Amino acid sequence: TLYLLDSDREDNDPIDRWLTAHLYGGNQETRIAQEVVLGIGGVRALTALGIQPSVYHLNEGHAAFCTLEISRQEIERTNKSFYDIEADVRQRCVFTTHTPVPAGHDVFSPDLIDSFFAHYWPQLRLSREQFLALGARRLGDPWEPFGMTVLALRMCRTSNGVSELHGRVSRQMWTVMYPNRSEDNVPIGYITNGVHAPTWTAPLIAELYSQYLGSDWKTRAVDPKMWEKVDDIPNQELWWRHQILKERLIAHTRHKVKKAREARGEEYERIQATDTLLDPQALTIGFARRFSPYKRGHLLLRDTERALRIFGNTDRPVQIIFAGKAHPADEEGKRIIQRLMEWCKHPALTNRVAFIEDYDIYTAQKLVQGVDVWLNNPRRPLEASGTSGQKVCFNGGINCSVLDGWWCEGYQADANGKGINGWAIGEDAHTSDQELQDRIDSESLYQLLEEEITPLYYNQDANGIPHGWIQMMKASIKTNAPLFNTDRMIADYVSQVYVPEISVTVPPILAKVLV
Ligand SMILES: *Cc1c(COP(=O)(O)O)cnc(C)c1O
Repeated sequence: TLYLLDSDREDNDPIDRWLTAHLYGGNQETRIAQEVVLGIGGVRALTALGIQPSVYHLNEGHAAFCTLEISRQEIERTNKSFYDIEADVRQRCVFTTHTPVPAGHDVFSPDLIDSFFAHYWPQLRLSREQFLALGARRLGDPWEPFGMTVLALRMCRTSNGVSELHGRVSRQMWTVMYPNRSEDNVPIGYITNGVHAPTWTAPLIAELYSQYLGSDWKTRAVDPKMWEKVDDIPNQELWWRHQILKERLIAHTRHKVKKAREARGEEYERIQATDTLLDPQALTIGFARRFSPYKRGHLLLRDTERALRIFGNTDRPVQIIFAGKAHPADEEGKRIIQRLMEWCKHPALTNRVAFIEDYDIYTAQKLVQGVDVWLNNPRRPLEASGTSGQKVCFNGGINCSVLDGWWCEGYQADANGKGINGWAIGEDAHTSDQELQDRIDSESLYQLLEEEITPLYYNQDANGIPHGWIQMMKASIKTNAPLFNTDRMIADYVSQVYVPEISVTVPPILAKVLV
């Protein structure tokens, strides 16, 4: 059951009524107020509903104030001190951190904490200093801001990142809080994210799974043996269905781009041109995400001449569909989108490059179900997990990605370092020299497109069926589907985090079975 908190009530004052209406765009004061609503309000809402959770799962630090409200209620009930009930509260709370990007970890100045909590810490029977210490990375430093991730790490019994690499990066990031531990022993583990297979698998492909894997395939998503049966699907059967999904994606793209051009009042010819935008027979790449600079939305344009040779090639056409938004305050992100929009207008590329505005879940669905290749080139290690590439796998799409987040675990190569179930951009390593890293990764990406991806796609039989490509599509499904789904993820959370006392009958390390 999902409960949504809404501050838009007549008995609230006008500013407070606005609090839950906007996710971003406020200042630090609106941010802390939102987090008070979520954390403290959230616990009070559950209490009012008569719900007593056995586990509170804090996703990201935003909800961390809930640990304080649970403490406050416990102190009220037992009449004990904070330090007497602290361990008890910790037993009921678990924490998942979701990003290594610093802006994703809210911190508040002691002044701001004063104005929101001066009446609250007495109820916890704490002094101001004791209260501030709960959110300070280093104890005894009066200038330390109050960190929500810090509070969550202190007050929760377990903490985890969302991929193996992200776990490692988080241990490194928070080692400052654990001066007596080596980095490897910082108590942050990992559970890799997964996606809900029935939601993201196109019905046309789900039909195939029902037929060849069994009508109960949706309830057996964690079974690698079941996914092996993907090999039984005839190549032409998988291919025509994939091609229809690609046609639907292209129809959706034309429609969205046309609407956007009309809305901007562009010339009639430009609007008409959308009717022939993109080609269902061409190799189609998708790139959709928030346009944060670390996602490097324009990495492909680093060498514009080379990009032009790839995307302007008329013998073996390659096309790409971009979609995404930038954070309203992110000027650099907006400039990246501007550059891509300009690139779409290049005379040689007008039918080969498209940008879909207003990226939403509907466009995401069309994209992940219809592309041949899903491109992801973040600046490693800043993509904690990423999930869009997982959605693609269930539809037979193939990932071409930096070895960051989940792909670091998903990607498999043969003895010669050639990808079996997709492609890896760059190496299983990174440098802090951004310029150098961009050069290495863009070079690797161009090379993959020129020497591996395009030739494999265009190696087609007399009926236009690319058997080598389809073999890789099947590998993408077989190796990734049993691992990167929500059934495996939830089973991991149950057995490793929520109720470690009981064991769940799901093969724990499916990866070992597969390799
Ligand atoms: C899946 C999805 C995302 C998250 O994708 P990432 O790979 O984590 O960037 C974002 N927006 C929409 C609409 C999605 O469907």
